[in-house]
Amino acid sequence: MTAETVAAEAGRDFIRDIIQADLESGKHREIVTRFPPEPNGYLHIGHAKSIALNFGIAQEFSGRCHLRFDDTNPTKEEQEYIDSIQADVHWLGYDWGKNLFYASDYFERLYEWAEGLIRAGLAYVDDQSQEEIRINRGTLTEPGKNSPFRERSIEENLDLFRRMKAGEFQNGARVLRARIDMAAGNINLRDPVLYRILHAAHPRTGNTWSIYPSYDYAHGQSDAIEGITHSICTLEFEDHRPLYDWFLEQLPVPAKPHQYEFARLNLTYTLLSKRVLTQLVRDGHVSGWDDPRMPTIAGLKRRGVPPAAVREFVKRIGVAKANSVVDVGMLEFCIREELNRTALRRMAVLKPLKVVIENYPEGQIEEIEAINHPDDPAAGTRKIAFGRELYIERDDFMENPPKKFFRLSPGNEVRLRYAYFIKCREAIKDAAGEIVELRCTYDPATKGGNAPDGRKVKATMHWLPAQQSRPAEIRLYNQLFAKPSPDASNFAADINPMSLEVLKDARVEPAIAETNSPDAMQFERQGYFVRDKDSTSERLVFNRTIGLRDTFAKEVGKG
Ligand code: ATP
Ligand code: MG
Repeated sequence: MTAETVAAEAGRDFIRDIIQADLESGKHREIVTRFPPEPNGYLHIGHAKSIALNFGIAQEFSGRCHLRFDDTNPTKEEQEYIDSIQADVHWLGYDWGKNLFYASDYFERLYEWAEGLIRAGLAYVDDQSQEEIRINRGTLTEPGKNSPFRERSIEENLDLFRRMKAGEFQNGARVLRARIDMAAGNINLRDPVLYRILHAAHPRTGNTWSIYPSYDYAHGQSDAIEGITHSICTLEFEDHRPLYDWFLEQLPVPAKPHQYEFARLNLTYTLLSKRVLTQLVRDGHVSGWDDPRMPTIAGLKRRGVPPAAVREFVKRIGVAKANSVVDVGMLEFCIREELNRTALRRMAVLKPLKVVIENYPEGQIEEIEAINHPDDPAAGTRKIAFGRELYIERDDFMENPPKKFFRLSPGNEVRLRYAYFIKCREAIKDAAGEIVELRCTYDPATKGGNAPDGRKVKATMHWLPAQQSRPAEIRLYNQLFAKPSPDASNFAADINPMSLEVLKDARVEPAIAETNSPDAMQFERQGYFVRDKDSTSERLVFNRTIGLRDTFAKEVGKG
């Protein structure tokens, strides 16, 4: 076990240690964190890590966590994303209460502070093109070059900035930059852009603004305005921290938050970049943001993953300062563990093969009692009709079985779960030679699944009554990407062509058909399944959340 796992199990990590120390030293009396998504896409499981960290800390230390939309780029942001983000945070089990904020709430104040920077000689309007700015920024080994507009007078800067605000110039014509140091070792300090011209309607401020603040300029100041004590973000912002602090030094902010960085979540077989996820949706590689193959919260939900499994996963991976890649098997392990504990057991036949019990009286039906959860007697039982015509799983029969095949084959006896022993007499084939029906016999003395003479069978199989069961479509999902580390720059090439298999002729028991529950059920011997929103009263659709087999444990065992 790594040090990180130990810390996670103890519910501790370096950020919580810092917070504990800040409370003990009296540096802070109340802890305030925030989760600051940009509403330019749906949340994914990486965001869940950040959500659980920020909201979790607020809960544990009796503080509060703000949900703040970082809505500074209206060309990419939409109300649909704002709504989905709120729904997803709630689904994960967290609540911001009254603390819902938008960076756009602070546009006026940010603007005034920018004028203040100009007046202090700490910001200027630059007429260079985006390309010139990029080239003159220098590299890690070479210093940047001062802009020819860097020495503009305060009056000229104020005038130009006000005219930028008034909408006088076209997109890209000018920017406002901080005047820091074009030779700074940290490139983020080489006169970063504070405002760009953008003639675009904003979901909340409409057409009020023709200029929008950059992430770097908006973020820390929003933290300060809201009194955030610990501004927790991912490692790629570590190099932005000197700039974050520079603004707080120069501006008349009401508080001085501190930024801390942790490692973002990376998962095998998964890409967690909003650019890629957006492209997957736009190019039709998936059915939408909530396609069950997507690593989005909406996708996980639609796939039947319980929020508790996501929370457990996030807890187990812990919070570290070094980037790493987590095996997706770890997530699957947490899903299985939670569902094994909570999911009701049901029977479904994914690929049905008809069975006729020749010695069972025609027209007779009996009710067989089945247990809803083996470890939870309170979950009760249900009745399943047993009759002369049944379905079993096609894969559970072999006409010429190899040695270790103990399921049904001619002459072999097996147990039908909760019901009787049956024996196959003959396989009926169609003209093409395909098996279409099995003729079997049952032993009435084995009712309940045991033989009075003590004879044993080596297999217990699930089954359904042919008439009383209901048809259903079942969607089996596999990893969306075929490679453990898909290439984000050419992800289409790595998409798994087998990521979705649709079974159109499955059968499910009435107890499955009749439920509207959003919770996944275990289809015995098959895995966990949940009813999909595409279901209608005529056509039921189920998604496989996950199979029963624990491939992760196997992998770990191998290692
Ligand atoms: P992009 O994918 O374009 O980089 P983003 O995922 O960073 O965007 P934001 O909306 O800015 O999008 O993210 C909100 C918060 O979630 C940020 O604080 C960010 O650090 C955090 N976050 C994003 N991805 C991950 C991840 N994979 N693991 C942990 N936290 C993440
Ligand atoms: Mg981001």
